[in-house]
Amino acid sequence: MARSYDSNNIFARILRGEIPCKKVHETEHALAFHDIDPQAPVHVLVIPKGPYIDMDDFTAKGSDAEIAGLFRAVGEVARMLGADGPGYRTLSNCGEAAHQEVPHLHIHLFAGRDLGRMIGKG
Ligand code: 5GP
Repeated sequence: MARSYDSNNIFARILRGEIPCKKVHETEHALAFHDIDPQAPVHVLVIPKGPYIDMDDFTAKGSDAEIAGLFRAVGEVARMLGADGPGYRTLSNCGEAAHQEVPHLHIHLFAGRDLGRMIGKG
């Protein structure tokens, strides 16, 4: 399904510096910042700098460098925050069934407590 990127979404505005964020890490291809409404002691969002709606859009259109850059940044953030030892969870909501709210790809990184098992069954 062809969808167009909304360049006024909140994360696009954060990338342009129009809205502040609590930055954790920045690389050529990615920006990481604390979620405004954390669901764990550590809840960071890692986003690509390019205009990608979700994981589907990114994996279809992103360059190899952008894709590697985003995933490397996720690992770097986890290590920077000391989450690699105890462990952490990454999650990315894609589209309606997953209740994605912000239409700019983001990978949630949760840590800082026992995160329980995956997701509910319904
Ligand atoms: P989604 O449901 O799209 O996977 O997650 C969107 C996430 O973005 C939510 O966890 C929400 O708290 C976070 N969020 C929404 N608006 C802002 C904002 O302006 N700044 C930050 N840092 N996080 C936001």
